[in-house]
Amino acid sequence: MSAKEILDVTAIGSGAAIMTVSIHRAWTMRHAVQAAGYCNLLRLQLLLMKLFLGGYLFSAWAITSGHVQYLHSTVALVYLFGSVFVLLTVWLAEQTTQTLQQYNRELEKRVQERTEELQVALQEQQTARRRFAQLYSEMPVACFTYNREGIVLDWNSECERLYGFRAEETIGRSIYDLFVRPEDAERTREVIEQVMSGNPVRDIEWLDTTSDGEVRWVLCSTFPLLDGNGQVTTAISANIDITERKKQEHLIEQQRDELEAQNANLQQLTQRLAQANAQMERMASTDALTGLPNHRVFRERLWREYLWSLEHDQPLSLIMLDVDHFKQFNDTYGHKAGDEVLRKVAQVLEEASNEGRLAARYGGEEFAVIMPQAGAEDAVSFAEEVREAIADVPCCYRQITASVGVSTLGLHTLNPDTLIEEADQALYASKREGRNRVTHATQNRLLIPTIPAEEWLSRVREAVADPAGFAAHRMINQIVFDHLQMLRRARRVLEGMDIPLVSQSEECRFVPWARLAQEQVEDIDELVLQHEHICALLRRLQAQPSPDALLELEALVRQFTNSLRETLAIYQLAA
Ligand code: GH3
Ligand code: MG
Ligand code: MG
Repeated sequence: MSAKEILDVTAIGSGAAIMTVSIHRAWTMRHAVQAAGYCNLLRLQLLLMKLFLGGYLFSAWAITSGHVQYLHSTVALVYLFGSVFVLLTVWLAEQTTQTLQQYNRELEKRVQERTEELQVALQEQQTARRRFAQLYSEMPVACFTYNREGIVLDWNSECERLYGFRAEETIGRSIYDLFVRPEDAERTREVIEQVMSGNPVRDIEWLDTTSDGEVRWVLCSTFPLLDGNGQVTTAISANIDITERKKQEHLIEQQRDELEAQNANLQQLTQRLAQANAQMERMASTDALTGLPNHRVFRERLWREYLWSLEHDQPLSLIMLDVDHFKQFNDTYGHKAGDEVLRKVAQVLEEASNEGRLAARYGGEEFAVIMPQAGAEDAVSFAEEVREAIADVPCCYRQITASVGVSTLGLHTLNPDTLIEEADQALYASKREGRNRVTHATQNRLLIPTIPAEEWLSRVREAVADPAGFAAHRMINQIVFDHLQMLRRARRVLEGMDIPLVSQSEECRFVPWARLAQEQVEDIDELVLQHEHICALLRRLQAQPSPDALLELEALVRQFTNSLRETLAIYQLAA
């Protein structure tokens, strides 16, 4: 064989072998190529390769049948290189396919993982949705959602209980047809408008109608709900049944109204009672005929003024006035005319009495005027004024006259009663002297003697027997008056007056009481001590008057009288 033939046979043989291998490999990767979508390309390649193989078979036939003239070495070589190129392409495609397959596998794996993740998320979402639906449905507050037109979209179980409608009866229906009362329709529309504009509405109270036509009070709050685009297209309404609370409130309001009415009634009654009390007080203290303070007020005031005058070493006078021949006047002109006279006299007295003075009806046709801080002279001139004024009263058929008696607190005065008795005696002196005149008690030496020792002892016994009674009160007051008077006398002694401070013959009125009340009064010893101290000081002052001793005496007397008053209070309390 020539060199050319060897070359041709070798090229054709090896080319055919390479092409066979290539076709085999391309055939085996057909599925992968198909999966990749390159079917036409594969078909073309297989067609080409089959053409090449046909070329090889034709060359083999030409060699074996002696038709070498059809063979050309260059073509054989081209076939060879073509086979090598095809083999390389197949190999490259195979490599690429493998890489692609790898990618594919990885992709599939990732898709698988992603799918699993998505499934888990979906499951969680479903669970959450289920849970929310359950929560929404079982919530202890009646909740429903609705749209702009008031169509119900959701309706929870509490809503069913509150309104009596089942969810399937309400979803898709209008709230106006379900439970909104016609008279509330306008207000409801306003609320929906506000909520749909994005503003929640809280705690509004209104009446809703239930499925069986009953009307219930509901406390409602409603909030806008956003859709996927952030727009408000629906809203949720939460409602609480407050019918019972409203009933209670109504009941309380009713009770409050009743209570207020009762209170007003009570206030009226209290006011009337206060008025009645004031009137009674007035009646109890005022003389009905003349309008002047009555006898009781006169006595109380006289006692107060008497004590005040003693404590402050101030003068005090008392005027007693009696209409002359009044019985005769009554007999002549009648009782009514007599009453008119009494009113006129009272008017004169009241007009003449200034702030500090007290004019009172003592009884019958007798009147009294208490004159604090007025000495004998002032009191007599006032009495004269009054007497003249009465004589000048232009009424009552004939001239009216009155007789007046005046008394003034002196160092000798025992108590307020003494003042009254002295004024009374002075008044009767005026009568005796011919009426229509004024007499002062001291001017005529109409002085009441001191209380005899036996009488005092009997008073003390009475007081000890009834410590809470009037006798004890009167007795202790007398002892207080005695000591205040003693202090006034001591002041006069210091001013140079020659009067006895301590009686040599009589013992002090405190002593018999201290003796008899020994077991009754706990701190009587303390009182006795204070009293002895006072007596010693009085003796000292009598012998040698000194301002210091007087100051000491003032302090002691104040202490002693205070202790006496306390004793009286305890005394009465214990009794
Ligand atoms: P004397 O000048 O001595 O005082 O004589 P008198 O008549 O005023 O004295 P007597 O005590 O005898 O009479 C007092 C009279 O006053 C007796 C009584 O009828 C009368 N009287 C007492 N209270 C009232 C009263 O309220 N109204 C009227 N009209 N008379 C009264
Ligand atoms: Mg009289
Ligand atoms: Mg008279």
